[in-house]
Amino acid sequence: MFTACVLRRDKKRESRIARERVFYLIKRAEEWKNIDYELARRYVELARKIAMRYRVRIPRELKATYCKKCLYPYKAGKFRVRVRKSRVIITCLNCGFERRIPIRPKRVNRKV
Ligand SMILES: [Zn+2]
Repeated sequence: MFTACVLRRDKKRESRIARERVFYLIKRAEEWKNIDYELARRYVELARKIAMRYRVRIPRELKATYCKKCLYPYKAGKFRVRVRKSRVIITCLNCGFERRIPIRPKRVNRKV
């Protein structure tokens, strides 16, 4: 009983720290993408690993900053944006992966 108590994980604290790290890493990736593209990719990779391990949800606006497939952050000249049939299509020019983001009408009575 005593050992169980000592070894108990503080999940709330863990997920808070994990969230901080994920956000920080993606921010770093944004800052570094024009300096060291490989390093920026590594930051995204780490952020995703931590997010998966601790089941942290990466918000949509952060998810839209990197390619889901090759994990390189989108930077000028490396991606293409098209709007078609009420959705935004982002094409990664590194791997050619297309991502479609539907444009939904804004919900008024929903607080985020
Ligand atoms: Zn890609």
